[in-house]
Amino acid sequence: MIHRGGCACGGVRFVVYGDLAPVGACHCESCRRWSGYYWAAMEIPRRRFKLTVAGALVWWRSSAAAARGFCSRCGSSLLFDETNSPWIEISPGAFDEPTGETTTAHIFCAEAGDYYRLDDGAPRYPGFEPRG
Ligand SMILES: [Zn+2]
Ligand SMILES: [Zn+2]
Repeated sequence: MIHRGGCACGGVRFVVYGDLAPVGACHCESCRRWSGYYWAAMEIPRRRFKLTVAGALVWWRSSAAAARGFCSRCGSSLLFDETNSPWIEISPGAFDEPTGETTTAHIFCAEAGDYYRLDDGAPRYPGFEPRG
């Protein structure tokens, strides 16, 4: 199965081979400012992700350990790439079709904006989601 996606203007397109993944929403200050609201992502194994049109893609190194990929033409926030991680994080809103996935966690809620309420029933964590 192939899932296709891209930015609002078509200057960045990508495919994911195989299953998508549940959505995690991040409410940290960096995600809030970068997205304009809060950012959410699916964690996909990097080997199953391929850029098919990358001409307009630019990267912003948002911390020492990660970069954020967005379209330089339309501004769509698309990718979060952590150095040396086997995963790439992809905006769920960038996919072409309904994803069939749901939001299963909210992280960094301690930094959340004051203009929305989280009532979708997914667990909320003040910082990182506890592992294990
Ligand atoms: Zn674009
Ligand atoms: Zn964040």
